[in-house]
Amino acid sequence: MPRIAFGAGVRSTVGACAARYGRRALLVTGGASLRAAELEQSFATAEVHIEQVQIADEPSPDQIDAAVRAYHQADIDVVVAIGGGSALDAGKAIAGLLRPGNSVLEHLEGVGPERPYQGPAVPFVALPTTAGTGSEATKNAVLSQRGAEGYKKSFRDEALVARDALVDPDFLQTCPRSVLAANGMDALTQLLESFVSTRSNRLCAALALDGLKQARDALLPLYEDPSNAEARAGMAYASLLSGICLAQTGLGSVHGLASPLGAFFPIPHGMACGTLVAKATDINLSAMQQREPEHPALEAYATVGRLFANEQGLSRQEAWDALLDRLWDWTQSLQLQRLSAWGVTSADHPRIVANSRGSSMKTNPIVLRDEEIAAILAVRQ
Ligand SMILES: [Zn+2]
Repeated sequence: MPRIAFGAGVRSTVGACAARYGRRALLVTGGASLRAAELEQSFATAEVHIEQVQIADEPSPDQIDAAVRAYHQADIDVVVAIGGGSALDAGKAIAGLLRPGNSVLEHLEGVGPERPYQGPAVPFVALPTTAGTGSEATKNAVLSQRGAEGYKKSFRDEALVARDALVDPDFLQTCPRSVLAANGMDALTQLLESFVSTRSNRLCAALALDGLKQARDALLPLYEDPSNAEARAGMAYASLLSGICLAQTGLGSVHGLASPLGAFFPIPHGMACGTLVAKATDINLSAMQQREPEHPALEAYATVGRLFANEQGLSRQEAWDALLDRLWDWTQSLQLQRLSAWGVTSADHPRIVANSRGSSMKTNPIVLRDEEIAAILAVRQ
């Protein structure tokens, strides 16, 4: 776990935070321009010299290797990433490889030799500017090779976890509404999938439920009005909890599908998750009712339904209905696009299904059949 600082304005401490590790920082930012002047001032005040790498779009192995080559000899003391999940994952991977200097392809899961990571990692500080991936609390960096032969795979090691996470909800004020919607649904999906995961535990269940409660109350208000400070704090908190939980429990079928979807098509991660989560939940519920009616995740889903409806007295069936109603309602209200908007056709479904059984699918509460996974896609095609 990183040391966590949470609250409006904590971004101004970034320079002092970086200075605890040394005087030379590599700043990794995303494609969107951020109000850098304020942050540069924070580094200057702390007498930290910064070099800067910009990562547009989701990071590829080539981009990571290029940054590592460029700064391998630069005596960087600390890597600071400021941005969405892409910038944070890029910073995490670069911090991991800056000292060893080898290609990230040697460590990517399911790609190449999968050599164990030996380190050492340069200290890494994460400042998320969106509320979605929870990357500031996780040990994996997701890298994307896009295209027909594409993949989305993780570079994963405990040593990659950020030393510090500075979570400032005020970054969300300037986040585009479509990004707030997609990332908010990603956080919500990560909380829900952690809560029902085959590796769920009491600690994560408590955190996930609190995150789901915050998301219930903050997701739509934030989408409707990013100047709502309470909603910003609620979603930033839900997102942070989602990262803490998923690092312990793994995820489920939605993230299993998001991986090939994001590799083969230019669909943002949160959009893929948000558009699929309602139907994926429906499929998990019906598969367990049919094949494993005693499965504990059935009660876990009912617990979330009662939380979303804010009615503790609901029967199991009523609670499941309330859960699905709310998920479909958010899918509509947040205008999450169908898969066809990103170039996916029905002919692509078999290939997506065939590539969906990565690490996330392994912790789905029930093993799904190919036709069930295909049905999740079909409803949102
Ligand atoms: Zn996610």
